[in-house]
Amino acid sequence: MAEVTHSVVFSSDGQWRNRPPSRIPSLWKSYLYQLQQEAPIPKRILCNREVHGKPAHYGREFHGKISREEAERLLVEDGCYLVRESQRAVGQYTLSMKFGGITKNFKLYYDKKHYVGEKRFDTIQDLVADGLISMYLEVHAGDYIATMCMESKYEDSPYMTLNSYKRKITRNRSRSSIKHAKDEVALKKEVSKCEPFHEYDRPPIEASTNDVFLHEDGEDIDVLQFEKLHVFKTNNFIGLPWCDFCGNFMWGLIGQGVKCEDCGFNAHKKCSEKVPNDCMPDLKYVKRVFGVDLITLVKAHNTLRPFVVDLCIKETEKRGLDVEGLYRVSGFSDEIEMCRMVFERDCECADISKNAFEDINVITGVLKLFFRLLPIPLITFEAYSSFITAAKKPALGERLEALKEALNALPPAHYQTLKFLMAHLYRVAERQKYNLMTPQNLSTVFCPTLMRCPEIGGVPDQLTAWHAESTVIEMLITHQRQLFDH
Ligand SMILES: [Zn+2]
Ligand SMILES: [Zn+2]
Repeated sequence: MAEVTHSVVFSSDGQWRNRPPSRIPSLWKSYLYQLQQEAPIPKRILCNREVHGKPAHYGREFHGKISREEAERLLVEDGCYLVRESQRAVGQYTLSMKFGGITKNFKLYYDKKHYVGEKRFDTIQDLVADGLISMYLEVHAGDYIATMCMESKYEDSPYMTLNSYKRKITRNRSRSSIKHAKDEVALKKEVSKCEPFHEYDRPPIEASTNDVFLHEDGEDIDVLQFEKLHVFKTNNFIGLPWCDFCGNFMWGLIGQGVKCEDCGFNAHKKCSEKVPNDCMPDLKYVKRVFGVDLITLVKAHNTLRPFVVDLCIKETEKRGLDVEGLYRVSGFSDEIEMCRMVFERDCECADISKNAFEDINVITGVLKLFFRLLPIPLITFEAYSSFITAAKKPALGERLEALKEALNALPPAHYQTLKFLMAHLYRVAERQKYNLMTPQNLSTVFCPTLMRCPEIGGVPDQLTAWHAESTVIEMLITHQRQLFDH
């Protein structure tokens, strides 16, 4: 079956045509689509009698307590279907439908939707249409379906091909927080390294200084390369969906496959299991700022750190760090909420200047809120225990060594954000003579927002855990220069 798709194309006049093998592989494979078009169409067999005890959710396809044989007699050709009540069990209903010249019977269920398996349908007609497509494809392309995701190469997948454009566009988007790379030669290398040009892509574009940016602190980090899981959910596609992994059609009427909530990657359920963790979140799907996973946020906005963190810290430093009780004193919650709304609405362009929010404690409050609302805390659940273990080491040298190791195991986006925050808190603590915020005070404030004990495993002793947590944050502030790579 597999060879068929490579040598045959579905031309615009609706005919299958043989085509000489081409150098250019096609992005999509239309074989399964063609099969779905050929699948039998549902034909409802109407009951002409008055039937007693017909449930309200069935229509004239309901024939009452007729026998299996009677049903078989009524279903004259493929696609014909009817519903009947079990002669033995009251309230049990069977869908009888003809496929491949054979009458098939399915136990039918209803819970405001009709179903025989996992998929839920609004009408029996849709259920039958979907069933006929599935059975038809299973008969005609069972082997093909079983192997299509094994035989598909991810590097050649439609996702990779289409994504190379997206990466290019995202990279070219001008950002206020990043500046141009100076060395054009290094730049060209970088572009060719992370973006293999497919021959069917487009002519190679000459790399220009706009292609790769250096982040403000001089680090050449490609945020788009950060590893990130896709968030796949079963989806009812409208129209004709195609798998971004194997390039095949996703057959059926509903629940044809899965879709990633962050980037919109469409795939057969089986294909989705083979997709690597290279999700490229799209602002079209990532609609919020607060309460969004940190990696998703930085990849969606193509910033080294969440822009909320950068803007709040910059604003705080601009206004001066000598304010007494900085980060300890809370701002009014309505104002914090308003500031949050401004970020949600205006993103990187949010105005959080003194004119907009006079009280500095609102800005520090929003920053703390941002961290508190992260679904996965800045010090991730996975890394939590290695930080705690590190804090409990007896000698300072050992503690620092273990903390450094724990830090290096954090996802890059988390690491970069933590590094930036700790450098800022260090500067806050440097002014402790005026603001009265020692590293210990700051750690008390930040502990609950930066570290949350994973629920699995639990904590035997809350107090010990809290003590260890605040030691961790205090050490990260005090020793930030040694602990983070500079
Ligand atoms: Zn994704
Ligand atoms: Zn697929």
